[in-house]
Formats: sequence, C-alpha cells, structure tokens
Amino acid sequence: MPESKICPHAARCGGCQYQGLPYAEQLAKKQALAEELLGSFGPVLPILGADEPTHYRNKVHAAFGYDRQRRVVSGVYQPGSHVIVPVEDCMIEDETADRVIAAVRELLPKLKLSVYDERRGGGWLRHVLVRRGLATGQLMVVLVAVSPVFRNQKAFLAELLGRFPEIRTVVLNVNDRFGPVVLGPKSKALYGDGYIEDELCSLRFRVSPSAFYQINSAQCEKLYAAAIDFAGLTGTETVLDAYCGVGTIGLCAAAKAKQVVGVELNREAVRDAIANARLNGIKNAFFAAGDAGAYMEDMLREGGRPDVVLMDPPRAGSDRRFLEALIRCAPKRVVYVSCAPDTLRRDLEILTRGGYRAEAIRPVDMFPYTEHVESVVLITRVGL
Ligand code: SAH
Repeated sequence: MPESKICPHAARCGGCQYQGLPYAEQLAKKQALAEELLGSFGPVLPILGADEPTHYRNKVHAAFGYDRQRRVVSGVYQPGSHVIVPVEDCMIEDETADRVIAAVRELLPKLKLSVYDERRGGGWLRHVLVRRGLATGQLMVVLVAVSPVFRNQKAFLAELLGRFPEIRTVVLNVNDRFGPVVLGPKSKALYGDGYIEDELCSLRFRVSPSAFYQINSAQCEKLYAAAIDFAGLTGTETVLDAYCGVGTIGLCAAAKAKQVVGVELNREAVRDAIANARLNGIKNAFFAAGDAGAYMEDMLREGGRPDVVLMDPPRAGSDRRFLEALIRCAPKRVVYVSCAPDTLRRDLEILTRGGYRAEAIRPVDMFPYTEHVESVVLITRVGL
C-alpha cells in the first residue's frame, strides 16, 4: 500500500497510530520520543529503521464471530470492546498469513463448522493464530475453539493443506473461558509436530504456539545484532539471557561467550530453547524454566556471577526482585532490550541508583506504522 493511502480499517481498528504518515516522519517521531523519554539517562543513537515497513508482522491473530447477517467474519476487536472489525488484508500483517485466515473463514460454512457467538453463547471457533517463518516460509495454524470436538476435521485439514502446502503444523487449542487471554491451557497438534522452524542471525529456531517470538524478523536481526554488539563479548564471559523466550538472543551470542544461561517463565518456550541449542549444535548454552527474579536470587546464593546480563522483559518491564538481585550480582554490563519506554525508564532509575549508568540507547523500529518504540540500552557498572 502506498504510504499516503489510509487503510480502510484505520478508524475502527486503531492498530496503526501512525497511519498516513510517511515512513521517514514516523522514524523522526520515534527518535524524538526516545530522546524525550530516555535522553536523561544517556545518549540516544539514531533509530534503526526498516527497509520494508509494511507486511512485517509474522504472527497474525484473528478473532472470529458473526456479523448482523450471521455471516462469518474475522478480524480485530475494536479497541475496548469485543466488536469484531472485519479485516481481510492488513498493511502490516504477513500477506500469506492473511490468506490462510481468509481460507479458514471460507471453509467454516462449507464444512458446517460454527464460530463462537459471544452474545448468544454456543458455537465453536473463537480465534485463529497464524505464524510464518520469514526465512523458511513455514506456516503454523492454531485454531482456538471452545471444545476439542472438531467436526469434519479430516476434510478441513485436507482442504487447508491442499491450499497451503507450506503449512507445517495445525494445532487445536481449547479455550472455554471468557476473558482476554487468547490461548487456553490445552493444545493438541492435529497435523505436524506442533511447532514451526525459522532462521534468525544464521541460526535455526523452532517455535511453539504459546512461545514468544519477535514479530518482525528483519528488524529483529538488527535488534539482536545491536544487543550483542553492546554486550562486548570476548569469549570468556558467562552471559545470563533473562526472559529468554525460545533462546534466540542467548543462542545468537553463544559463539562469542564462554557460556550462556537462559531463564524463561513459559515452559513451552523453555523446551523450544533447549531444542534450539541442540538443533544448532550449541553446547555452551543452558536453559531453565522459572521466574527471572527467583533465578537471579538463586544464582546469587550459589555464588554464580554472570559477567554480562542480557534482559528482554515483557511490556510490564522487570521487577524489584530481579533488579535488586542483579545489582547485588554486580555484572559489569547489562544489555536491556525493551519494548516499552515507560517501564524501561522506571527500571533504569532503579539500576542508576544501584550503581549503573546507561552508556548508549539504540532505538530500533520493530513496529512501523504503530507508536511502539523498541530500544536496546547498554548499561555498565560505574567505577569499572
Ligand atoms: N528474548 C526473547 C523473548 C522476549 S519476550 C526474544 O527476543 O524472543 C519476554 C519473555 O519474558 C516472554 O517469553 C515471557 O514469557 C517471559 N517472561 C515474562 N515474565 C517472566 C518472568 N517473571 N520470568 C521469566 N520470564 C518471563
């Protein structure tokens, strides 16, 4: 879509706050925002922009429902409601993933499959998640339904796989609870192994449905390169990859470190991380499931001392438990990857009081057309 054309869904969807702004202006705005919010902590380097600012989202989530004529629709919830804004193509989503969602929408009435009806109750399918490996082209389709009973499952799979041979796995996830969480606790692979593989920074990664995986793969490589550059590894360091997801950052850093240990709360992601070390023949990386703060405290008690900590917490940021243990552990360098400048500021204040200083802040545009700002910060211990 040309930069100046406004997306027809923009007014109701609300996902692209920078809709209609030329990309160069979007970058200038994010640079100014990063300087305003983070500039008091240290120098803000120029933002790393995207070569291709559209169709970058490798993960697409569509909510399913009925419109007033009882036709099946899929799209995004209008902000603050459960009213579905029908979206057929989106300027930031992966186009193949959008085509898979359109195919599911078509197949449902054909195979007499119902969609969940939030107002009247009843119905079956609630959401569809599609993930596509940018480098491998592999597709994962996750159907989120209220019950594990799948009518016409065989015919559905045959039709979908016939149309998209790149599909490597189809997973049925059961979520019968009302609420904002998309995935329920139980999943079953109906086709394939339940995960797809992708490549980042010349390594191969498997990713399961509930595991976090950066949604913009091209920009993710720039983000990781910036983080690993800030880490200043020489081959002798023990590196902690906190909030490690499927182990991506740590495994990308492993060749430059003595060893890497990763910690992550989501067990499915930790299983992926362990498999990913094996998949790439990396023998100096180890992963544990648990809360990053609790892990850091254990490490401190047992006398383990990481030289470098790479941390990439969710939007809510880190917490006191982790940051206080980190300060007591006293690694010489901390590389903080953040997708939320407000929680980053809060955590930087704690680290600054604890004897650390932000040496450089590098914004990376992971989410073109939206107002979200990702940044990587190099933080070092003062006096070293
Ligand atoms: N570094 C990874 C993942 C970053 S997303 C990547 O680049 O892909 C943040 C991750 O933190 C998610 O995988 C989430 O499951 C995990 N997480 C959230 N709270 C946590 C906690 N208290 N302890 C450890 N991990 C946590």
